[in-house]
Amino acid sequence: MSKFLTEKYQKLKPYTPGEQPKEREYVKLNTNESPFPPSAQAIERAKAEAEKLMLYPDPECKELAGLLAEKCGVSPDRVILTNGSDEVLNFAFMAYCDERTPAVFADITYGFYKVFADLNGVPYREIPLKEDFSLCVDEYMTADGTVFIANPNAPTGLALPRAEIEKLVAANPSRVVVVDEAYVDFGGESCIPLTEKYENLLVVQTFSKSRSMAGARLGFGVGSPALIEDLTRVRYSTNPYNVNKMTMAAGLGALSDEEYFKGNCRKIVENRAWTAAELTKLGFALTDSKTNFLFAKHEKLGGEELYQELKARGVLVRHFSSERIKEYNRITVGSRKQMEILIDTIKTILEERK
Ligand code: PMP
Repeated sequence: MSKFLTEKYQKLKPYTPGEQPKEREYVKLNTNESPFPPSAQAIERAKAEAEKLMLYPDPECKELAGLLAEKCGVSPDRVILTNGSDEVLNFAFMAYCDERTPAVFADITYGFYKVFADLNGVPYREIPLKEDFSLCVDEYMTADGTVFIANPNAPTGLALPRAEIEKLVAANPSRVVVVDEAYVDFGGESCIPLTEKYENLLVVQTFSKSRSMAGARLGFGVGSPALIEDLTRVRYSTNPYNVNKMTMAAGLGALSDEEYFKGNCRKIVENRAWTAAELTKLGFALTDSKTNFLFAKHEKLGGEELYQELKARGVLVRHFSSERIKEYNRITVGSRKQMEILIDTIKTILEERK
């Protein structure tokens, strides 16, 4: 840190992204990336667009917003496109939280919410999940602030039915509820249909997981035209060219290839079921994940220990050291082959301990 950094950033604890090691080839199951390449149409369109990189991208993302809105069943003025969904989440913190309007979220959820709150100098309140990691919507009814709910949640993988979220949104017309649906395509129920009915609901999604585009950085928000106008105001005050030309083109390609997208989601759901069954046989307890990852704890082997043992054998999973979840690991659901390697490696580790 230099002596020039302003005080407000000196105390900031940045988000720790999952490891991206270069020293050896890992079976990478730590950052919830897709094991499948992007759609061929996405690749083709991005390549063609590369030739036009001397030009700025369309700041309105008109074509992509139009197609996305159509897919979401809403009008284009209800959609904003961003540089990954992290960016629209940050915009929501900027637009809807301040000293008097704190952010409210679960104690175990996406770790970036805390960082966004700190970055923007806004207070936050964490509401503990229940013992089984489920989220009690009733406890959010009186939460005075802007609510952020990851649904399905990360890293627990648990999903709330849309009707539960609707209760919360309907009960609090005077505050914004942000529903982060990064993992919704793997078995969750999207709240996008509710955005036409409630002006205080913002739904956030990403192309990073189910559309295999984590490297392109494309996310979006869906909400009332007024909310989208607010977020666009923030966007134009930070970086109007937040979505680059190649990413925009890739997004159009990905959205045009619905078959490929659905097929990949189906494969992940199948591989998740297979892996969960195998892990259960090996003595793991798992949450009922509706995402592209599993959240698992072994009856004997500690969370940190399993993480280290797997890493030493070339399999990377995500371990969080916070107290309530330190015995768990979050394991991305990859290809069937990757899942077989994971299971075989765990069998070897357990075998060696007998
Ligand atoms: N929300 C949740 C719950 C996530 O796990 C992630 C991925 N780290 C994101 C949002 C952000 O994803 P991206 O910026 O790649 O769209």
